[in-house]
Formats: sequence, structure tokens, C-alpha cells
Amino acid sequence: MKVERALPTTQAVELLDVVSEFARDVLAPRAADAERDAVFPRDVFTTIGRMSLLGLPYPEEFGGSQLPYEVYLQVVEELSRAWLTVGIGVSVHALACFPLARFGTDAQRARWLPEMLGGELLGAYCLSEPDSGSDAGALRTRAERAGAGYRLDGTKAWITHAGHADFYTVMARTSDNRTHGISCFLVPGDADGVRAGSPEKKMGLRGSPTGQIHLDGVAVEPDRLIGAEGEGFTIALAALDAGRLGIAACSVGLAQAALDVALDYAGQRRQFGQPIGDFEGIGFLLADMATGVAAGRALYLAAARRADAGDRFTMQAAMAKLFCTDMAMRVTTDAVQVLGGYGYVEDYPVERYLREAKALQIVEGTNQVQRLVISRQLRN
Ligand SMILES: Cc1cc2nc3c(=O)[nH]c(=O)nc-3n(C[C@H](O)[C@H](O)[C@H](O)COP(=O)(O)OP(=O)(O)OC[C@H]3O[C@@H](n4cnc5c(N)ncnc54)[C@H](O)[C@@H]3O)c2cc1C
Repeated sequence: MKVERALPTTQAVELLDVVSEFARDVLAPRAADAERDAVFPRDVFTTIGRMSLLGLPYPEEFGGSQLPYEVYLQVVEELSRAWLTVGIGVSVHALACFPLARFGTDAQRARWLPEMLGGELLGAYCLSEPDSGSDAGALRTRAERAGAGYRLDGTKAWITHAGHADFYTVMARTSDNRTHGISCFLVPGDADGVRAGSPEKKMGLRGSPTGQIHLDGVAVEPDRLIGAEGEGFTIALAALDAGRLGIAACSVGLAQAALDVALDYAGQRRQFGQPIGDFEGIGFLLADMATGVAAGRALYLAAARRADAGDRFTMQAAMAKLFCTDMAMRVTTDAVQVLGGYGYVEDYPVERYLREAKALQIVEGTNQVQRLVISRQLRN
């Protein structure tokens, strides 16, 4: 199905064309096998970095493209439509870069950002722990002063790109104050004392590695503290506002992929002497799916335009994440229904899409947490 996009410039239209072609011709053919065999496509991130797609929303002086979020997110949507592991990987990488890009000093940005945005260095974002997920402010990983720098000890959980990342953006406790006692560190993946646990055996998104990161007496230089000491929780939440827009875009891409397969199938599969798409029961299901996808796209783009205008968008990002991930769950489930028995087996990708959609309702704050954020913002 051709997606009608509202893009602000000719340059953005051309970019989306290049990305769509790359996603269709290079990514989509690899997705099913890699997801079945749980193979992380690290090479793809190098390629995407060389295509300048990892630094789209970041400053040009550090190797980014300084494009509006509105454009960056539609790129993430197109990548996710072909292969969610790649779309979500780009979004998580952007999340890991955000603290440095937004809160780092010029010297810190000049030192690390070009390689991060160029695809040489892949990032991971480490907030969650085994005992603190939704209640992120209860995290226990500690960063004690040691000489001029810090020594980090603790365990991070559910980390996307664990064991594959070149740097970990780690939130760790520098004092006992619940939220003002958390600080943000950029930890090299090959530092002594950094160890990845075994990858989690997930329901879906198996190409995207998720696991624990153990920090055992990791010595961190003082210039790897991002922002001020105690500012880490504020940084983590600011990164999540932007990251949730990424998850919303991933969800729309996944739902669009499911709709594409269902539409195609409904036109070809014949029962009772006619294409099943001609039955009102299927046609209405497809109409609801397409409406959900369009509404999700409009919602994340509206939130992105607020971000691009410099307005607060915490509530809008939470709404977009909530709506788009629930919509993706419903649309992928309905796509399986449209395909009947063929939807339930691996011959078609929709059963995989359904399993992948479930993760999106959990990552970067569960949808219960999004409702908490929205209800608090409503009363502010
Ligand atoms: C595939 C995957 C990738 C991930 N990648 C990352 C990553 O890269 N970095 C990272 O830091 N984390 C990552 N996470 C972790 C993710 O952010 C957490 O799983 C999520 O925040 C929920 O935490 P939890 O799993 O500990 O669940 P819990 O917080 O224990 O929640 C369990 C249930 O209780 C509900 N609940 C909790 N508190 C409330 C409340 N106040 N009101 C109502 N309901 C509530 C939740 O919604 C949920 O349904 C990832 C998770 C997954 C599954």
C-alpha cells in the first residue's frame, strides 16, 4: 500500500524514497531468517550509519543531519515496516545518544558523537534493573567517587543491544536522594568489569538482543559523567520523551506492514467464489486497521511537530506511545484473523508481527506507565 506522507521539504521526500527502497530491497528479505535464528544484524547499523540515518535529528557539526523529528520518525517507521529489529535498534541508539547530544559539553560531544552518529559505535540505554522497571527512580546501581573519577557497581536489566553495544548510557546512583541522586555515565562496552549476561529468550523481536549488563567495579573517567551529578533522572526522562516517539513510529511501521500483508491476501484469497476482501466482515476489519494506522501516524507526527517547535511534548509523546502500540497490537492480531489458518503459521510474517507488537506495549515505560504520565500531565 502506498503511504501518503506529508513531508516538509523535497530533500525529505527524496530521503524517504531512498530509505523505502533500502528497507524493501535490503532489510525485508533478511528479516524472517534472522528473527527465526535470533541473529543480530550488527552490519546493518554500520550501513545505516554510513547512509547518515543514525544522526538524523542531531546537530550537523557533530555528524548529524539536523532534520526535524517529523522526518526522522518517518524514517524509523519505514525501517520498522521492513524489519522491526532495525527500526527499534535505530530508535534505541538515538535514545542512547540523546543524553550526550543534549546535555554533554561541546568537548564531550566532539569526542564521541561523530562516531556514534556515523555507525562506528552502537549504543545501548541502561535504566532498568531487575528490581526497578516501572519504578525507575528506585534503581540501585551505584557510582562511587574513586580518585578523580567513579567506580560503577550493579546490574542493569532488559538492555537492548546488550553484549553488542560499543557504549552504554548508564543511570547510576551517586547519592541516596531518590531522584536527585541519580547521574548519567557513558560507559565503554569494552571497559574492564562490564559483562553481558545471556540473551533473554524472548517471545519475539529475537533479532534484537536483550540482556543484563553487569557492572563490576567499572572505573569511569570523570569526563564520562554526562550533565551534572544528580541530573541523571531528569536526563533519563527527557531521553524517554523523545524515545517514546520512536517507539510510536516503530509501532505504526509494524502495523502498516501487517496491513500490507492482510490487504494483499484479502484480494487474492477466494472463498465462496469471491475474494475474501469482498465480504463486508473482512472489508470492515481492513477499514478499521487502516484507520488505526492513519490515526497513529497523525498522532505521533503531531507530537513530533511540537518537539520540533520547541514546545513541551511529554504528554503528547506518552499519548502517541500508548495509542500506537495498542493499535499495533490490535492491527497485527486482526491481520492474523484476515489470513485465517495461514496467519497462524510461519509461511506468512503476520504471526511474527503479532509477537513483535507485544514488546512495544512494554518497552520505554509500559502502557500503564504512559497512562500515569498522561494523567499527571493533565492535572499540571
Ligand atoms: C524487549 C525489551 C527491551 C527493553 N529494552 C530496554 C532498554 O534498552 N533499556 C532499559 O533500560 N530497559 C529496557 N527494557 C525494560 C522495560 O523498560 C521494562 O520492562 C518496563 O519499564 C517495565 O518494567 P518491568 O519489566 O520491571 O515491569 P514492572 O515495573 O515490574 O511492571 C509489571 C506490571 O505492573 C504494572 N505496573 C507497575 N507499576 C504500576 C503503576 N504504578 N500503576 C499501574 N501499573 C503498574 C506494569 O505496567 C506491568 O504491567 C526493555 C524491555 C523489553 C521487554
